[in-house]
Parts: sequence; C-alpha cells; structure tokens
Amino acid sequence: MHAEAKTCDVLIIGGGLAGASLACALENSGLAVALIEAHPLHAQTQPCYDDRTVALSYGSRVIFEAMGLWPAMADRIEAIKTIHISDRGHLGVTRLRHLDEGVEALGYVAENRVLGEVLYQRLVENQNVQLHCPAQVLSLQQQDDSVQLCYAENGTEHELSAGLVVVADGVSSATREMLQIGTSRQDYQQSAIITNVTPGQSHQNIAYERFTDTGPLAFLPMTDHRCSVVWTVPTGQVDALLAMDDEAFLEKLQQRFGYRLGRLRKVGQRQVYPLALVESTQLVRGRVVIVGNAAHAIHPVAGQGFNLALRDVALLAELLSAQNDAPIEETLANYQAMRTQDARRVYRFTDTLVKVFSNDFPPLAHARAAALLLTDLMPAVKHRLARQSMGLSGRLSRLGRGLSMVKRNV
Ligand SMILES: Cc1cc2nc3c(=O)[nH]c(=O)nc-3n(C[C@H](O)[C@H](O)[C@H](O)COP(=O)(O)OP(=O)(O)OC[C@H]3O[C@@H](n4cnc5c(N)ncnc54)[C@H](O)[C@@H]3O)c2cc1C
Repeated sequence: MHAEAKTCDVLIIGGGLAGASLACALENSGLAVALIEAHPLHAQTQPCYDDRTVALSYGSRVIFEAMGLWPAMADRIEAIKTIHISDRGHLGVTRLRHLDEGVEALGYVAENRVLGEVLYQRLVENQNVQLHCPAQVLSLQQQDDSVQLCYAENGTEHELSAGLVVVADGVSSATREMLQIGTSRQDYQQSAIITNVTPGQSHQNIAYERFTDTGPLAFLPMTDHRCSVVWTVPTGQVDALLAMDDEAFLEKLQQRFGYRLGRLRKVGQRQVYPLALVESTQLVRGRVVIVGNAAHAIHPVAGQGFNLALRDVALLAELLSAQNDAPIEETLANYQAMRTQDARRVYRFTDTLVKVFSNDFPPLAHARAAALLLTDLMPAVKHRLARQSMGLSGRLSRLGRGLSMVKRNV
C-alpha cells in the first residue's frame, strides 16, 4: 500500500556520523530536510554509535562549535594536547604540541556513543528535519528536476520526491549499489583491533602513534583515565589475539607498546574492523551526492575518516544554503571540484603512512627513523604536519572557519 507522497529539498540516506551531522548542519538553512535511517533513532542501540572512539581534529571542533553542538560534547570528551609519533625498535620520535600551534588542543577523543547522543538530540528537537527511522529505501529514480524514492517504514511503502539525495549509508552503501556506482578497493590485509585500556600512569593528554613492523598502534587519551587503543595487525593474527584472555592480551599489547604509560591494567571489550581503502568511483551523479564512508572509507591510522567526512558535510551544507536559484548540477559540480583535493591529500597521507611504516625492510626503517628525528627538529615541517592532522590545511568552509551558515533566500 502506498501512503501519500511527501516532498523535501534534501533527503539524506543514512543517519551515521556523516548523515546526522549534515542534517544538523542544514537545520537553519531554510531547506526542508528528510533523513532515512535503517535503525531506530536511539544512540544507545544504533550500532554506529557504540563504544568506538573517534579522534576529532581541532578543525572538527571548530565545525561543531559553529553548528552550536560543541557545548553538549565538550565535557564528555578528552583533549589531545600532544601527539607522540614513534617507530617501535628504531630511534626517532616526533612530538607535536598544542602550545606550538597556539590552540587549546590538537584534537579530541570522543566516544561514538556521545557524538550519537548529541547529534540525535539535536535532530529530534529540530522541526525542519522529517525523520524516517527505522526505514529502508526500496527504489530510487532520477528525473530532470527531482529524485523519486520509494521507501518502507512501519510496514508501509511510501513515496518521496527530493530535490537532492545525499547518500551517507556507509562503506557498504546499498544506495550506491542501487545507482550502480562502482568502487575501487585496496585491501590492506590488515585489521584494526579496537579496545579501551586503563594504564598504570596518567596519559597526560598525550596521543601515542606507534609504528610497528606489523602495523600502527595508537593509544589515545580518553576520559576516566582510560586510553582508546587502535591496534592494527595483519588479518591472519586477529583470531589468535581475540582468543586470548584479558591478561594474555594485555601482556601482548604491553610488549608492542612498551611502558610509556606504565603497566597496562584493565582492558575492555575487543572489536575488529578489516581495513581497506574504498573509494566511490563517482561522488556526484545527477541529483545525488555521496558523502562519508559511502564516498571514501580510509585506513584509521591517522584518525582522518570522520574528520574528512565532516569537512565534506560542512562545505555541502554551505553550498546548498547559498544556492538560491543556481541549478543544483552547478552546485554539486562546485562541491566536487572543491573537495577532491582535500580527499586526495588525506588518501595519500594515510596510504603512505600505512605502507612506509608497516614495513621492516632495513633501509626503509632507517630512513623513517631519520625522518622522524628530522621532523622533530624542523619546526616548519612539524607545523605543516600538525595543520594537516588538525584538519586546517587547504580551503576551509564557512563552518570550518567557525562562521555560522548563511540562510538561503526562500
Ligand atoms: C577502527 C576505526 C577507527 C576509526 N577512527 C577514526 C578516528 O579516530 N577519527 C576519524 O575521523 N575517523 C575514524 N574512523 C572513521 C569513522 O568511523 C568513519 O569515517 C565514520 O564512522 C563514517 O560515518 P558514516 O556516517 O559515513 O558511515 P556509518 O557510520 O557506517 O553510518 C552509516 C549509516 O547508514 C545507515 N544505513 C546503512 N544502510 C542503510 C540503508 N540502506 N538505508 C538507510 N540507512 C542505512 C546505518 O545504519 C548507519 O547509521 C575510524 C574507523 C574505523 C573502522
């Protein structure tokens, strides 16, 4: 049975970090926004908003601040004041410090659950966003002046006509497949084991990025004296590490990380994510634009995935709000042209880190030790590295510069 057709200016498919952030960014745009999400709208039960953490760059803080969401997050996340980069078994360390960059913190560590709660709270308060959750898109057809959708909600089929569709349904995007947009995929043959640990010594707001011959290992400062651990290992080693009891696992982790934080005491649940660079072959097709993991899922080595997505979302929201009478195709072409450079820079950066630092070929190991040492001694190089990590390089959107959105003329 078909219920009465609805209309909206922007339909977002997927209410994960990227889709929910875009819906919030558009709240004062004057556009009628709809969001279709496969899971119920509760951050407590939504699998994207679990115990994982994301390292938010300083640039992401600026965007959330301009969206008015920062105060609700600020007390529940931990600041990264120093980033300590080292290479296990080799000399050479680089330290990036917040004071050198003149900022309160280089970044922040947030639990996905906390971000989910803040974003969803804003969405339910927002009258301009029609929420359809849980719901599934059944079909989608592009026309000259709109996209026609059929979706299922509460056991009923509905139709919806949207001026623009934003696809944000994650790395295995069913909508991208429905549109027959392909992906390029580079499998790293690595997986990330994610967990939280309580170390014997205070983390002092230092994020440790330690490169090892089997892959990078990050310890990120969290609230309650915990550290969020992202341990990248060859996929063949995952089963053995998961099968260990907590004590044996902590011992193995301690061997890899060392004693910079004293003895590791307690470990939380372990979760595994296979790692690949997955890129959509197109970001824009007609009146459809693809964002977040559906557009590009990258290795978590430098904690850039969501930060990149949030910069995409901030610019898209700005261009849509300022669009007025310009054809949507022109707006989307501008969006794609403006965002491609940043995305390419992030892919190159993370991909190079993974390849150069997951390799114990001796000349490469010496070169990397020298590079870490030299970087530490060269303020200009460190500054560039810090700006990149903070998400402040390249062209920034209005939200990225801390400015609120300009409401479109309606
Ligand atoms: C191990 C690991 C560590 C990471 N660490 C960091 C970090 O430190 N910093 C950082 O910036 N990034 C990090 N990332 C990346 C970050 O997690 C992702 O960039 C981010 O979660 C992507 O969000 P998304 O909204 O695009 O996709 P998702 O989170 O996958 O959300 C997709 C949403 O779409 C919904 N959905 C799916 N299919 C449909 C459908 N057919 N219809 C409707 N809805 C649908 C899902 O229910 C979900 O809510 C990390 C990633 C991993 C794997």
